[in-house]
Amino acid sequence: MHGNNDESVVRVMNLILLGAPGSGKGTHAEFISESLGIPQISTGNILREAVKNGTESGLKAKSIMEAGGLVPDEIVIGVLKDRIAGADCKDGYILDGFPRNVAQAKALEEMGITIDRVINIEVPDEKIRQRLSGRRVCEGCGASYHVEYKPTKKDGVCDKCGGAAVLRKDDAPETVIERLKTYHELTSPLIEFYENKGKLHKVTGQEDVGDTKKLVLDAINA
Ligand code: AMP
Repeated sequence: MHGNNDESVVRVMNLILLGAPGSGKGTHAEFISESLGIPQISTGNILREAVKNGTESGLKAKSIMEAGGLVPDEIVIGVLKDRIAGADCKDGYILDGFPRNVAQAKALEEMGITIDRVINIEVPDEKIRQRLSGRRVCEGCGASYHVEYKPTKKDGVCDKCGGAAVLRKDDAPETVIERLKTYHELTSPLIEFYENKGKLHKVTGQEDVGDTKKLVLDAINA
């Protein structure tokens, strides 16, 4: 863990969590965010918020997200730039769901952003299909739960903000097939991209979320 207890060694840590939709990257990004005290930046959550608020980006993104495709790079890169300019990002952040293709990874480099580590959570597709059907996401704050692995204390109610924890539209089985196809075609080449840069740390997703959490924290501290 980096030296949050010692003010003299505050160190910027920029991390990327890679993995297929449903690999648990969002949950682990949340854990790391709490452990390291740096924000989790989920482009999916930001885009969902934009859809909800009916902004220009939201209107463009809505149908693509519902179909399981990727929102155009110029929109997502713009959204990310705005977010990382926030004061809370000055000591680092965890990118969750960005980059989603090699062009976005190159855009990060062009912005002059140094990535310390990329953690790739590996989970077989079959397991992902099972997991997504049980996933519940808070409509209010975007917190992620699972009916079996990480249930809310009260059924359908977010522990954090009291919002409604629901099955996301894009977690419907037919959309999941499309999202996995998109992942394999466009996102998985990032594994090799970051491996070639010596930044990639692989974590095999475990049955127990706590076991995966330990492996993720080990990968960060390695
Ligand atoms: P997520 O919550 O990360 O699974 O994202 C939900 C949806 O938002 C994805 O299926 C995409 O349609 C869109 N999205 C999120 N992040 C990106 C990104 N970096 N590039 C393109 N589309 C994205």
